[in-house]
Amino acid sequence: MRPGMTSRMRSRFSLYRTIRHIVTSIALGLVCCVVWTGVLIAFLHPNSWTSKTGPLPLDQFEPTYLEQVAPELVQILKLYPTEGSGIYRVYSLDIGISHTMYSYRRTTASRPRTPGTRVRTVWDPTRSDIPDGVELSRYEYGWPFRTLSFDEIRTGLSTTDPLVMAYHQKAYALAGPNRGLDRPAWLPSFVTLRRVPIAVNWQALILNIVVWSAICYVILSIRPLLRAMRIRRRKSRGLCIDCRYPLEELTQCPECGTPRG
Ligand SMILES: [Zn+2]
Repeated sequence: MRPGMTSRMRSRFSLYRTIRHIVTSIALGLVCCVVWTGVLIAFLHPNSWTSKTGPLPLDQFEPTYLEQVAPELVQILKLYPTEGSGIYRVYSLDIGISHTMYSYRRTTASRPRTPGTRVRTVWDPTRSDIPDGVELSRYEYGWPFRTLSFDEIRTGLSTTDPLVMAYHQKAYALAGPNRGLDRPAWLPSFVTLRRVPIAVNWQALILNIVVWSAICYVILSIRPLLRAMRIRRRKSRGLCIDCRYPLEELTQCPECGTPRG
């Protein structure tokens, strides 16, 4: 505390310092949140699976927009959405990516499927204008909550067959912003970004900023806290709070001039 301060000035000073501390924490938290989400999107893609949380309850089945593009499949059965974070969830450590897979399939009754296995569809457009199955992968990014996502829709075929193309176009149109944007052509190759996610979960975004800001607040608080502890310890041992000179009965340190605290 600066010398010559009245108690009113002092309390106003500490209030100002607290506000500044909070504002700095929020600004830093915002930066950390943006930077980390950017790193996840640009470099880490959950494309390899090592962990599963098993099948999700069907009442949480999303996204429902696909039901419009594949109503004939939906009527039969919605199959096992599964969730995982691929190679980036190591020892249950969540770093902010998840991949949820949704499958719609035509033939299910005869062949029960194991959760987590991929749908391999064989769609012959010359025989049917409807695919045997539609698979939708939702990739979500953000820590601790997922804030940005994009969806990939597959029918098992990627030919230039007009029927297949039309089906995909229809699915993409229904997906809207959920589909994300194409990878910008000017991106250097070391950036492994697949698509640009533009579907935002605002609630999760706000919560993430709060969490990151709280972490920054704690980190910023550690140094002043350590300093306060050090001063208290030196005072109790009768040492100069600045240079540890033993003060005995002196009111000011003869070494560095610091007044006794
Ligand atoms: Zn001193």
